Formats: sequence, C-alpha cells, structure tokens
Amino acid sequence: MADTTGHLYPTEPLKCWGEAKQIREDYYNNFKNAHEKGGLRWAGGAWSFDAVPYGLGDDIYPLTGEPYGASIAFKKDFSVRCQEAAEKAGYARDLCSYMRNYWGSILLDEYAFGGPFPKPDFMWQDHICCSHAKWYQNACELEGGDVPLYGIDVGAGPCPPFAPKMYEHRVRYVADQLLDSIEWMESYFAVSKIGAVPVEKGMRQLFFMLTFVSIGIITDCAATSAFSVSMFRDGGQSIRM
Ligand code: SF4
Repeated sequence: MADTTGHLYPTEPLKCWGEAKQIREDYYNNFKNAHEKGGLRWAGGAWSFDAVPYGLGDDIYPLTGEPYGASIAFKKDFSVRCQEAAEKAGYARDLCSYMRNYWGSILLDEYAFGGPFPKPDFMWQDHICCSHAKWYQNACELEGGDVPLYGIDVGAGPCPPFAPKMYEHRVRYVADQLLDSIEWMESYFAVSKIGAVPVEKGMRQLFFMLTFVSIGIITDCAATSAFSVSMFRDGGQSIRM
C-alpha cells in the first residue's frame, strides 16, 4: 500500500490495537471487580517494584495512577469536572494534572470506567518525583484516611550509564526500604515470606523479547496511544496476558 503520510519509511497502524483496547478495558474492570474475584485492589504508580505487591498472590489487581489519569484526560468533559473538583478542594493548578484528574475522580466518586471510584485496599508507591508518594498520601486522606499506605523514596541519584559507577550506598538505600516494606506487607496482611521475583523476571524477559521482535518494525503510534496502554508493563498483568 502506498505510504501517504510523508514519513521517510512506510508505517502502519498497530494490528493488535483492537485487542489491546479490550485487554485495557479488562484491566480497569478487574480493579473495579477485584473483590468479586476474591482479590485485592492495589493503588500505585505505573513505574513500580511490582515483585513486592504481587508476592501477595495472583489476585492482586492494580490501578496505575498515571495511565488512569491519562484515561480520564481522554474523556474531556469528565476531566474538566475532575480538575474543577480538585481546584474547588483547594489543590493548586500547577500540580501534576494526572494527579489532579485522579483526585477529582475520588472527590466526585466517579470511576472513568463506570460506577463509583473503587476504594483501594492498599496503596504501595515509590516516590519518583516530588509528587508521587504525596499523590497517594493525599488520595488516602480523600478516601477517609483508612487505606494502608507505604511509600518508598527512590531519589538515590543517577545510575549507570549516567553516573560513573554504581554506588553501593545508593542501592542499599532503596533496597533497605523495599525490605522494610516487605515486612510491613507481611505483618499487615498476616502472610509470611511474600515475594514474586519469578513473576517480575518473567515479565522482564517477555518485555525484552517483544522489544527484539519489534526492532525494525515502524509503527504509526502516537505517544498518547502508547501511554493509553502503558499499564500493560505492570508485571503480573503482563504475565496474565
Ligand atoms: S512523575 Fe510526577 S509529574 Fe509525572 S505523572 Fe508522576 S506525579 Fe505527575
């Protein structure tokens, strides 16, 4: 087929786009219906150390904050109402708009995929910017203050190739917090020896395999389309796919 896009190379839309949208819908419905499935709702960011919460079992259903905020943004009218609700509650306009969409969804008690906002069973989040753990501290308060919350500071500075070497104390700083969080999770949920490193490992292998398979294939996929399915990188969900 002749390329009419003006690009240097021929491009084509993702053939799996329809299927990706279905999986995405299932993902958000799984979070909503987690309790009917006998599982738990985990709220946290899309960039996460998945192996820790997935250690609780295969029935942990996440809601990753940034893709959810982006999904709200796609529904322009709903997004405006969320932003207005956040502003009315006193949150400054220059805070992250994904975060304000998320808070607005709680304040309005409306889930972007139908029904009231599903209250998470726990929040486990890493602090990758000045807002990320604060995002969930505030979400917890908006939910009534009774959602267990654990935040991990990953502000340990650049790692290779941006830093000349791997500094042991930086790795230890993050690793110690992760180990503490495992103890917290084991005591809170009264389980012993959680851990899902094989799940995380399997997900990474799958991700790299897909990356290699994709090399050389140019896809006409806008950044916004890519972000709308970015929660698929979430460890356990990828394995289940
Ligand atoms: S990293 Fe910070 S600015 Fe980016 S989505 Fe998360 S909270 Fe918002």
